[in-house]
Amino acid sequence: MDKIYDVIILGAGPAGLAAGLYAGRARLDTLVIEKGKDGGQIAITDEIENYPGQMVDEKESGPSLIARMTKQVEKFGAARVSDTITSVELEGDVKVLKSAKNEYRAKVVIVATGAFPKPIGCENEAKFMGKGISFCATCDASFFEDFEVFVVGGGDSAVEEAMYLTKFARKVTIIHRRDELRAAKSIQEKAFKNPKLHFMWDSVVQSVDGDELLSKMVVKNVKTGELTTVEADPDDGLFGLFGFIGYNPNSKLFEGMLDMEGGYIKTDENMHTNIPGVFAAGDIRVKSLRQVVTAAADGAIAAMQAEKYINA
Ligand code: NAP
Repeated sequence: MDKIYDVIILGAGPAGLAAGLYAGRARLDTLVIEKGKDGGQIAITDEIENYPGQMVDEKESGPSLIARMTKQVEKFGAARVSDTITSVELEGDVKVLKSAKNEYRAKVVIVATGAFPKPIGCENEAKFMGKGISFCATCDASFFEDFEVFVVGGGDSAVEEAMYLTKFARKVTIIHRRDELRAAKSIQEKAFKNPKLHFMWDSVVQSVDGDELLSKMVVKNVKTGELTTVEADPDDGLFGLFGFIGYNPNSKLFEGMLDMEGGYIKTDENMHTNIPGVFAAGDIRVKSLRQVVTAAADGAIAAMQAEKYINA
C-alpha cells in the first residue's frame, strides 16, 4: 500500500479512540487499527462509575461507553481497519506497520495497545482456561448461573467483578493473597455488605484440577502454609475461577525500539516516546493511574502533539 496516512493509531481502547476523535477533528488523515473488539479492557467491564459525567444510577457498562466512543470517532472521519500488526519500522519520517497481508504507512504512530490480564499463576492453569477459568466476568458470568465461583485478586477489578458475579452465581468467594483489599474504599464498602460475597484471606491458588471441567483446586494459606482442597459440589460438577490480578502490557512489538520500564512504554507528559513521531497513550504507558479518564486524556494529548509534529 503506497498511501501515507498522517496518523496511524494502534489500538481502539479509550486511549486509541480518544486519539482518533481528536486527530479526526484536527482533519488529520487518520487510520485506527484494532485486532479484536474495540474497547480493550473496558469492553469486558460491567459497570463504569467513575468516568466523569457518568451517573452510577444509569448503570453505564463498558461496552455501551465504548460503542459511543467508536461512533464518535467514525463521525469525525478516522478510517478503521481490523488487522494484527506483527512488525513495525518506526525510525525515519515514514513509519511502517506490517501485518501478515498488509503494510500501513504514516507520518505518526500513536501506540495505544493497552494491556492484557495476568494469568493466575497456578499449576494446570492453561488446561482449564475456558473450562472453568476465565478473565472476563461480563463474558462468562452467565455460564455460572447458580454455581459456585471464586475470584482471585483484591483490587478494584477483582472486587467489582466479584460483585457482578454475585448476580449469577449462588456464592462468590474472593481469594486474596493479603488480609486486606487494595480496592477503593467505596467499592469495599459495597462488597462487605453483599451477603453472597465471601473471602479467603492470605491465600493463593496453588493448583487446579478436574476431568474435562474445573472441579478441584488447592488453595494455600501464605501465612500458615496450610493447604485447603476446594471441590465442586457433586451436583454441580464444576465451579468457576476468575482471575483479576492486574495486567501485562501489550508492548512486545516495540521491544528494543521504544524505551520501556517493566514492559510499559516511557513517554514525557506530552506522550512523546524516544522516537520522533511515535507517541504512546493509555495503559501501555508508564503512569500512576490507569483509568478510562486518564487513557482518554492521553489519547487527546497524543493526537494534538501528532498534529504539531506533522505541521512543524
Ligand atoms: P490492581 O489494582 O493492580 O490489583 C491487582 C490485585 O491482584 C491486587 O490486590 C494484588 O494483590 C493482586 N495480585 C497481583 N498479583 C498477584 C498474584 N500473582 N497472585 C495473587 N494476587 C495477585 O489491578 P486491577 O484491580 O486490575 O486494577 C488495575 C487498574 O485499573 C487500577 O488502577 C484500578 O484502580 C483500575 N480499575 C478501576 C476500576 C474502577 O475504578 N471502577 C475498576 C477496575 C480497575 P496486592 O493487593 O497484595 O498487591
